[in-house]
Amino acid sequence: RKYVYDFAEGNKDLKDLLGGKGANLAEMTNLGLPVPPGFTITTEACKAYLTTGREPDGLAAQIEAHLESLEREMGRRLGDPDDPLLVSVRSGAKFSMPGMMETVLNVGLNDRSVVGLSAQAGRNDRFAWDSYRRLIQMFGKTVCEVPGEEFEHALDEIKRAKGTHDDLDLDADDLRGLVGAYKKIFAKHTGREFPQEPREQLDLAIRAVFDSWNAERAVLYRRQERIPADLGTAVNVVAMVFGNLGPDSGTGVAFTRDPGSGAQGIYGDYLANAQGEDVVAGIRNTVPLQELEQLDKTSYDQLLGIMARLEEHYKDLCDIEFTIERGKLWMLQTRVGKRTAAAAFVIAGQLVDEGLIDLDEALHRVNGAQLAQLMFPRFQLDHEFEAVAKGIGASPGAASGKVVFTSARAVELAAEGEAVILVRRETNPDDLNGMIAARGILTSRGGKTSHAAVVARGMGKTCVSGADELDVNVPAKRFTVGDHVVNEGDVVSIDGTTGKVYLGEVPVMPSEVVQYFEGELDPETTDDALVRAVHRIMTHADAARRLRVRTNADTGADAARARRFGAEGIGLCRTEHMFLGDRRELVERLILASGEREREDALAALLPLQRADFVEIFREMDGLPVTVRLIDPPLHEFLPPLEQLAVNVAVAQERGEDVAKEEALLAAVRRMHEENPMLGLRGVRLGLVIPGLFAMQVRAIAEAAVAVVRDGGTACPEIMVPLVGAVQELETVRAEAERIIAEVVGDSGVEVLIGTMIEVPRAALTAGQIAEAAEFFSFGTNDLTQMGWGFSRDDVEGAFFWRYLELGIFGISPFESIDTDGVGRLIRIAAEEGRAARPGLKLGVCGEHGGDPDSVHFFHSVGLDYVSCSPFRVPVARLEAGRASI
Ligand code: PEP
Ligand code: MG
Repeated sequence: RKYVYDFAEGNKDLKDLLGGKGANLAEMTNLGLPVPPGFTITTEACKAYLTTGREPDGLAAQIEAHLESLEREMGRRLGDPDDPLLVSVRSGAKFSMPGMMETVLNVGLNDRSVVGLSAQAGRNDRFAWDSYRRLIQMFGKTVCEVPGEEFEHALDEIKRAKGTHDDLDLDADDLRGLVGAYKKIFAKHTGREFPQEPREQLDLAIRAVFDSWNAERAVLYRRQERIPADLGTAVNVVAMVFGNLGPDSGTGVAFTRDPGSGAQGIYGDYLANAQGEDVVAGIRNTVPLQELEQLDKTSYDQLLGIMARLEEHYKDLCDIEFTIERGKLWMLQTRVGKRTAAAAFVIAGQLVDEGLIDLDEALHRVNGAQLAQLMFPRFQLDHEFEAVAKGIGASPGAASGKVVFTSARAVELAAEGEAVILVRRETNPDDLNGMIAARGILTSRGGKTSHAAVVARGMGKTCVSGADELDVNVPAKRFTVGDHVVNEGDVVSIDGTTGKVYLGEVPVMPSEVVQYFEGELDPETTDDALVRAVHRIMTHADAARRLRVRTNADTGADAARARRFGAEGIGLCRTEHMFLGDRRELVERLILASGEREREDALAALLPLQRADFVEIFREMDGLPVTVRLIDPPLHEFLPPLEQLAVNVAVAQERGEDVAKEEALLAAVRRMHEENPMLGLRGVRLGLVIPGLFAMQVRAIAEAAVAVVRDGGTACPEIMVPLVGAVQELETVRAEAERIIAEVVGDSGVEVLIGTMIEVPRAALTAGQIAEAAEFFSFGTNDLTQMGWGFSRDDVEGAFFWRYLELGIFGISPFESIDTDGVGRLIRIAAEEGRAARPGLKLGVCGEHGGDPDSVHFFHSVGLDYVSCSPFRVPVARLEAGRASI
């Protein structure tokens, strides 16, 4: 088995095997760019080592062979006393895990080759001893777990003795002394001398890189970023080049475009006379890359040429690391660079303009999650505001408010109209009320799958989790961060996208992308590059997509906004939402009515209100289909709470008041009380039990449609029956509805479709029968998930999903993103059997999943006709439907 690849043998598509760094070093080598020679040990070797605890057979021999050819190419032998080859040993997994794994530089130095290195560098003793002490330090720390502080202390001590803060003031003798001190530290902690044998150094360093795959921080990072745990890392062994050989040497990083905004130009930092780790450690201040032009114009021009070449080759923004050794430029790394959501859109648009990619490819380069991020209001940050801490951006948004430390206090202050930020070390299910009351949630512990993160995302609430610089003291009602003490009532601001925490109130500005969707910014004339790019890519997505996108809306205002955002109709109008507020009592009267008279009075009162609701919505959606769902109230939301009522009656009785009416109400509520309202008298069941309720709604819908048409408009109503599990339920409702529609519509030309939701597993499994009585299906994936998994949708996210996520039972809540294996299978079955029974059956989805990017791809693959989602998700669904089609 081949475990080792020369750089010339790989290419950029071999990331699984060679890791990102190795694959791209190979690609650059084959492009003829100046890459120091070297080879890559595969992820397979790492995996074999990690499973068996030892290097796989044949690895040592292959390393030997590649090392020999590297030595031949360089004309030097590893660690040769007179003229040593030195190598770096660098980790590099398939997915970048910045700073999570190990690197050892200067491998091959020992007591003798340090002299040879000095000669090589033109009798530069200082450089040679500095390189040697760096090796002992890095090797000691990463390979032998010697505490890093001990080395730091020794270095500080020498600087203090010398009266300086700058490493550069240490001369060769100082550094030789430091090497002696480092060796003592090494021996004290490991019980052995620092290894002098170069090949042993190399083997141990390789093994340490393998092991670093399972280092605690790497494991945490992978869990956080959802990187599979079994990929392993590759190891790159690269001939050392030195940026610390003097003022004509140096090291730097660069981006081919601005990864923040996408703007073209030269972005990067350079540090003369330094090695890469100095830049990362921030020991000395870097200068902007442009200044390299003055320092070394030849290298600068060459670098710019290479950057242009890389962009053209990768057809994307690249980031690079380079070193200049005595005026000679070396490329140490490149990769397609990370970028912000805004830059992703802007760059995709630019690359189309530059003819590097087409619009289909541009659509692939962005995604719905990025678009959603761009639709949140943002903090308007100028220099005044500096973050005091950075946690994990767990749920996006920008929120400011007064700090509170308990759920109870959050509820109290919110009731007084205050914006509050709930600060906890971590949240638990008892914090739910506080989380609902708060504008945002800030925790000092926990990652993207912590309770706080999961629940906040479910609520669409801004959340920063795991801001571990915060020391939260709940009993004392304060937290400290750095030198700051923040007490209850002080104002903080949190950014749920970047994870940053600010003191005080940071002003918020609206999203320009939302302004564009609202029609307030003209994409043709604006000079906002982001808006122009979004417009262009959205236009292409709309042209490409097969899925239609509708919205879930139950008011005229929501319908109008969604239409501006591109909705092509309403996929779900939840009529029970029209009965909240003032009208709740009418519904209560209806449900609890003791006789026909009482019931008919209640219905008569509701009819005109409903009709007016529908007229408003049909007008806003003129010409587009509007699916009105017949009422589906969980009863407990419409009835007074039983316990409260019982207490009131008892108290009134005690006082000797006349409670006949209240007692009757109490008896009725008792009669209707359910232990499990979500599985109780809901949806079609309620319609079948309470005579006249669905009939009233059907009449209101038909009358509203006729009224709109008489006014010259076009109404396209679709009546949808909820919670159907058996075709007989639907047939019963349908028969009555058809009678009423025929009576109302007459010769007005209004056409009304009648269909059903598929949200009970039995409905999905008997879809062939149900389709006989339905002109359309709309998948209610909220209930289908609830009943498919047996998860109470109102309880589980706060109660235990965090644990399920932690254990990896699922990677994301099935209420957020469709469970394709289980619930998705029900959808597939229903779609196939429904269409087999009724060709042309219209299929849509109206659960929350309709606006979730991954779910949209699934619904496309199943062949649904449309998805329906909340107004703000409409652009996201349009974009993803387009991406799914190409
Ligand atoms: C559903 O169950 O997916 C649905 C859209 O209906 P509701 O959320 O109103 O139960
Ligand atoms: Mg439902």
